[in-house]
Amino acid sequence: MFTLLLNTHLFSPENNGIKNILICSGKIIYIGDDIPHLDPILPRETLDLEGAIVIPGLIDAHCHITGGGGESGPSSRVPTPMLSQYTRAGVTSVVGVLGTDDLTRNTQTLVTQAYALREEGLSAWCYSGGYHLPLMTLTGSARSDIVNLDPVIGVGELAISDHRSSQPTLDDILRVASETHVAGLMTGKAGILHIHLGDGSRGLDLIRQSLTVSELPARIFHPTHINRNKTLFDEGLKLVKEHNCTIDLTASPDCDTDPGWSAAEGILRYHNTKLPNAQLTMSSDGGGCLPKFNKDGEITSMHIGNSKILLQTLAQLKEQGICLEQTLPYVTTNIARVLRLKSKGELAVGMDADLCVCSNDLQVNYLMAKGVWHIKDNCQHIAGTFENN
Ligand SMILES: [Zn+2]
Repeated sequence: MFTLLLNTHLFSPENNGIKNILICSGKIIYIGDDIPHLDPILPRETLDLEGAIVIPGLIDAHCHITGGGGESGPSSRVPTPMLSQYTRAGVTSVVGVLGTDDLTRNTQTLVTQAYALREEGLSAWCYSGGYHLPLMTLTGSARSDIVNLDPVIGVGELAISDHRSSQPTLDDILRVASETHVAGLMTGKAGILHIHLGDGSRGLDLIRQSLTVSELPARIFHPTHINRNKTLFDEGLKLVKEHNCTIDLTASPDCDTDPGWSAAEGILRYHNTKLPNAQLTMSSDGGGCLPKFNKDGEITSMHIGNSKILLQTLAQLKEQGICLEQTLPYVTTNIARVLRLKSKGELAVGMDADLCVCSNDLQVNYLMAKGVWHIKDNCQHIAGTFENN
């Protein structure tokens, strides 16, 4: 089946203006001003989008795909998010993580859930490990997990500067980082260490030290939650400037940003620094609980992360005059580069047909994942296996 999309306002993520797109077998095979001629014998579907915005499907690189939480007793374990929670949010690629609970949640269930999402039509990967050391793994080591398990592309989210961490030392971090780096070399996978930052005053110290004393390249360190407090955010900017690291913002519900910056504020501040746009990414912490703790380490409030915050953040910035082609790379091309997802993040010939058709305020009206419509004219065509029960 050929799908021909006419008159799209294409953000690839660059603003390409009005273009026609032809899709076949899950891939983009033509983008241009002409209407490709197809032999009438070929099955096809033609949609005139009349200038509607078309963007790449988003990559949400930090999702608790098995459900996270569990930090306030067993009943606080967040249920597994279902397929439409991603597709309704414009997300076509996810990377699953384990967090605080890397014991009752494990690599086995994480890998299985990545396979489940793949079976349902999404592109999905995951990390080996979780907050703690020794790392939760499936095959005995993170290096072996990355080399032997198709969906595993790195290690994360390993916690530092947090009361919930294993209080890792510099040697611990170097050992884990070298494992994931070597596994990346052996496989061509990302081989990155995705690091959860807490509110502790040590901040990014362990990453800075790792980059100073070791031969490890900066590309393998991908610290997240950088906007959770203002001091950490400033430290993150310095890490980009001095080491050319890529830092990750967490987009949380607005009510939950104190004492940090919302992702939108973080992006505006990042723009003001004139640091390279390519060194910033954004993820949602979808399916995770976003707890606030008092000084005794007790939870005072909790929200559940959801991928929909990503497009909401871009919409908020668009309203403030920041154009989509500037902000889309944080959830498309930049993160695809960090994760070495070669056919993702960009709408171009030869890339996967992962795309969203959006309204001007970035509501998802259509979503295609690997050439298959999941949402069409606002109707959910494909739902998760148990969503309609
Ligand atoms: Zn985290």
